[in-house]
Amino acid sequence: MSVPRDRLLGFALAAGGMTAHSSILARSLGIPAVVGLGDSLLDTVQGTETLALDGGAGILLVNPPEHELQRLRDLVAQQRAERDVLRTEVDRPSVTGDGVMIGLLANAANAADASAAQEWGAAGIGLLRTELLFLERSALPDEEEQLALYQAVAAALPNQPITVRTLDVGGDKPMPALALPREANPFLGWRGLRIGLDRPETLLPQLRALLRAGANADIRIMLPMVTSVAEFRRARALLDEARRQLADAGLPCADTPQLGMMVEVPAAALNAAAFAREADFFSIGTNDLTQYTLACDRGNERVSGLYQPLHPAVLRLIAMTCEAAHAYGRHVAVCGDLAGDARATPLLIGLGVDELSCAAGQIALVRRAIRATDTTAARELAARALACAAAEEVHALLSA
Ligand code: PEP
Ligand code: MG
Repeated sequence: MSVPRDRLLGFALAAGGMTAHSSILARSLGIPAVVGLGDSLLDTVQGTETLALDGGAGILLVNPPEHELQRLRDLVAQQRAERDVLRTEVDRPSVTGDGVMIGLLANAANAADASAAQEWGAAGIGLLRTELLFLERSALPDEEEQLALYQAVAAALPNQPITVRTLDVGGDKPMPALALPREANPFLGWRGLRIGLDRPETLLPQLRALLRAGANADIRIMLPMVTSVAEFRRARALLDEARRQLADAGLPCADTPQLGMMVEVPAAALNAAAFAREADFFSIGTNDLTQYTLACDRGNERVSGLYQPLHPAVLRLIAMTCEAAHAYGRHVAVCGDLAGDARATPLLIGLGVDELSCAAGQIALVRRAIRATDTTAARELAARALACAAAEEVHALLSA
């Protein structure tokens, strides 16, 4: 986070996983990254003259010979050419071959991401990770500063929905400003909405800023790490309180903002019908849903082989969430990294997902995948995937 962007070509890490927040930042910056290389990396690169990074293949080359460097230069040129072709497709609607509209939105961490989303033809922001705006700060930004940020993001995508997630710190996202205690199991600890409800002085200013930004924009508020219905109700009560405070102060704000939630804890998926009566929309966070369902730390390279977003157990939770949501007329999005994997697009549509939100740079390929999908075939594919015994079988199914 502290390296100047114009000097950062890519990075390799000894630790980490594909959906750890360091990797998510790399995708959002559009730079290659290779993670989980092990501690020996740190000695290997000492005094090295040339390092070459192939993010697609997950390879770091140390002092590569000239022919290897040339191969990578050719690859870069080829990828640039492919992107130029994809850029000509940004105005095509994200409609399946048989005419079903699938919302295609972008994940963002700041206003620059929102501009990239606009360039790639996103129909809005499906996930604004607000904590990433504040990571490097020693004090939390106040309401006015937050308001300016949300307005800047909304200005990049006029008249489009902007889904803003309330602060989701803890886990692998530290926040110096909050001086969070060290925990033995941070992903199972004081994280996300749990902190916001215990410390309403952190959540209330954010809710007020969002309501104020919503006076002139379609701001949708999304809660992270919701586990129980009681938590959702307490958050809604805080939103009502924020609105009362703004009304008392005579400040303009959104009248009836949508309040939705991430489905990223298995309990939320298993209990989706109860949540569907309360929440205006669902967005499935497959990154956390995978780690919590499979009991597998998303940032721990030792278990990265076990971290499988396409595991049938995860797919079953996605299907259950869609079924329960649709029974109550609610929309379901996916905003975890699986949404940006174009190979999985027909499967997600077949499972019942209405909307996909991914990094701006992945939108074009996902759009192509949506347009190539037939929903009847997608439902058959989903049924076969749900009948698989293991993630490897699902991968084979998608490859076939
Ligand atoms: C997720 O868990 O899938 C998600 C989108 O949230 P984050 O990656 O920020 O935890
Ligand atoms: Mg998450």
